[in-house]
Amino acid sequence: MTLQAARTPACAGGPQDSLTAVPDGCFAETVTEIEHYTDGLFRFRMTRPASFRFRSGEFVMIGLPGERPMYRAYSIASPNWDDKLEFYSIKVPGGPLTERLRHVQPGDVIWMRRKPTGTLVIDALVPGKRLWMFATGTGIAPFASIIRDPESYEKFDRLILVQGCRRIDELAYAASLAAQTVDDPLVGEMASGRLQLITATTREPSAITGRLTTRLADGRIETAAGSRLDAESDRAMICGSMAMLNDMRDLLRQRGFVEGSNARPASFVIEKAFVG
Ligand SMILES: Cc1cc2nc3c(=O)[nH]c(=O)nc-3n(C[C@H](O)[C@H](O)[C@H](O)COP(=O)(O)OP(=O)(O)OC[C@H]3O[C@@H](n4cnc5c(N)ncnc54)[C@H](O)[C@@H]3O)c2cc1C
Repeated sequence: MTLQAARTPACAGGPQDSLTAVPDGCFAETVTEIEHYTDGLFRFRMTRPASFRFRSGEFVMIGLPGERPMYRAYSIASPNWDDKLEFYSIKVPGGPLTERLRHVQPGDVIWMRRKPTGTLVIDALVPGKRLWMFATGTGIAPFASIIRDPESYEKFDRLILVQGCRRIDELAYAASLAAQTVDDPLVGEMASGRLQLITATTREPSAITGRLTTRLADGRIETAAGSRLDAESDRAMICGSMAMLNDMRDLLRQRGFVEGSNARPASFVIEKAFVG
């Protein structure tokens, strides 16, 4: 079975070949671009179905065609106005999906379930002045969407994106993202001077060395931002490992932040960047 065998253009139940038929409730989309950053990280772009709508920050389930397709949650990294869909992915050694996904090439097909969802959306926050986005690793993906959405700049004066990784080379996606965003014809002017990227590393020395929670607690991140994280005027989104989410949630609660959801907007929201 090759990936090329499954180039069915739409999700309809398709031909009755179990390897090529697109499952009900899925789109079949074509990979257009791939960029590898490290042995463990890459991004890819693929076609976007004309009928597919999502809110910046949401995730979808994606999988590769095959006898027993396996779907995994992926945050959509592109903004909702983009005619392509972008994803930023880890490569887990031996991982059921990413051991195959890491080898995709332009022209290959990816299956995507039709319904996006998620809590990292601006609608789940009450209005504020500054939006802080805290990510570890691939947890930056939903924020890659949000910082490229004009609505984010209509709702907030400043966007502060904070990413923690183990090594400096793992910060490459964030750096190119921030640079491209301020140069972008659609959002560049809005983002210029209002979007700030702050990065930290845990296993290599860099401008900020240490865990995000440690460096938030000791004031280093706020010093870099030139602003205090204040529950009255600021809003926050968090995406990372379970341990990071729990620690950051505690820290924000201590500062008076209240966790929100789609049904009940408040001053911060969280989402797991992976399960496990
Ligand atoms: C809401 C949500 C959104 C997600 N968005 C993304 C995304 O945008 N990009 C992305 O790469 N992954 C994302 N994930 C994780 C993704 O669903 C898969 O787990 C990942 O692609 C690995 O799949 P796998 O089948 O190869 O390995 P799995 O069997 O899924 O994972 C094996 C182990 O690898 C570790 N792991 C898995 N994913 C990650 C990760 N992203 N970072 C660090 N460790 C990880 C965990 O310990 C896990 O138990 C998301 C998960 C959730 C719940």
